[in-house]
Amino acid sequence: MNAIDLDQLKSALDGIHVEDNAAIVKQKSRDFFWYSPVLKRELDHVTGDLVVSPKNEAEVVQVLKTCFDLGVPVTPRGAGTGNYGQAMPLSGGVVLSLSEMNAVTRIERGWAVAEAGAVLADIDRKTRETGQELRMFPSTYHTASIGGFIAGGSGGIGSINWGGLRDVGNVIRLRVVTMEAEPRVLELEGDDLQKVMHAYGTNGIITEVTIPLDAAYDWVDVIVGFDDYMDAVRFADLMANQDGLLFKEIAAVAAPVPHDYFLRHKKLLKETDSVVLLLAAPHAMTPFAALAAREKAQIRYRSDTATDEEKKGLPPVYELSWNHTTLRGLRVDPTITYLQVLHRSPNHLDTVQRMTELLGDEVPGHLEFVRFDGAVVCMGLPIVRFTTEERLDEIIRLHEDNGCIIFNPHRYTLEEGGMKQTDAVQLAFKREADPNGLLNPGKMVAWENPDFDWDTDQVYLFPGLQDAR
Ligand code: FAD
Repeated sequence: MNAIDLDQLKSALDGIHVEDNAAIVKQKSRDFFWYSPVLKRELDHVTGDLVVSPKNEAEVVQVLKTCFDLGVPVTPRGAGTGNYGQAMPLSGGVVLSLSEMNAVTRIERGWAVAEAGAVLADIDRKTRETGQELRMFPSTYHTASIGGFIAGGSGGIGSINWGGLRDVGNVIRLRVVTMEAEPRVLELEGDDLQKVMHAYGTNGIITEVTIPLDAAYDWVDVIVGFDDYMDAVRFADLMANQDGLLFKEIAAVAAPVPHDYFLRHKKLLKETDSVVLLLAAPHAMTPFAALAAREKAQIRYRSDTATDEEKKGLPPVYELSWNHTTLRGLRVDPTITYLQVLHRSPNHLDTVQRMTELLGDEVPGHLEFVRFDGAVVCMGLPIVRFTTEERLDEIIRLHEDNGCIIFNPHRYTLEEGGMKQTDAVQLAFKREADPNGLLNPGKMVAWENPDFDWDTDQVYLFPGLQDAR
């Protein structure tokens, strides 16, 4: 885009908050793509041209109409905590920040309505006033937006009970604005939700969400230590399958990650500890402790009996889990990276054991226990001690050869970061809602290159990347 277009765009957006300071625009163009050394190499230079922050849905409509008329790409952004380079504006243009649309507008028994830019912790704080809480949230609870979570996330704390975000019922309704000459505001419900959920904002801008709620608890943080990683994994699986105990989070993390990377908790841990991290309901603690004793599991920490002095400076246990495990590792050793691996039921413990034996300390284990199609499975986010991109690909292949499914966080397209196939529903909706392909360009291969052959090992390269500034 040239300077004249920018001036024209700015004057057409008169009255809407626009940021054009290059340093701020660059900062607001970035997400957490840099967890991946591959994406860091490919995307580090990427930036938008303007950050536009609408205050309400009418302003979103005005921005999309203007950008459609001028042919300007638009990449939506919540808080920019996504990995996979989801929110990186590959063709430059407008970064559409939803952060000023952050109101929680309605709370009823069992559900709530919020604007897309509302931060998860803020929604949860408000719903807790009514004795209710979010069913699930990412470990970026304190920063991430509900719209970004639905458009880019998969699940998180709470997924042990409720499965993934895309499971039927975990989102009730979305309001979505299309990118057309006359943008439409659509209300999507039921099966129609799948058109835009986890589509990286490539086919519509979510302005408002209706989400279900659960009964709220003051969750107890628990850390249990084990000398052997597979003992930790089996204990986590046992807890995940307890019908009578209520947990919101269960994860297993292999030594030496907890002692080396959980710096604030280090004083509570042995150097050789592999740990299970749990969030347990207060009324589950007595039976849980009895079961843990029977299993010879050593509780290293429980927040309900810890003194204020002991708790001082400790982050919540959920901020040791999901991709916060990787973040804590990166702060100690910036050369590491990670993978996302589905260990499928009913053999998930077997594949975990096989990969642990095969890769050892090159890929220290980290498993999140979740419900998947009704069964307990584990989603791995193992640390990878990165050496070369070739070796990273080899580690991925080893997982696939051993029956695991990889969601590759070293690719920026929907398909390559997912199931490596076209999502026909999302593609059809993009044709309808974004006919000129201006929303988050470069992220949907099926749109950019319909002939792309998924049966080869080739990696998709968005031609527009060369033009991005
Ligand atoms: P962004 O990063 O701003 O956007 C994510 C995607 O959605 C982008 O493609 C963006 O273009 C699009 N988008 C944003 N807003 C809209 C909108 N209103 N309409 C349409 N499209 C939109 N993810 C999990 O699922 N579970 C986890 O536990 C988890 N833990 C994490 C921990 C760390 C430390 C980090 C860095 C990331 C983690 N993630 C996790 C990834 C990420 O935090 C979540 O997906 C988060 O919910 C994204 O929210 P956001 O507001 O930052 O979205």
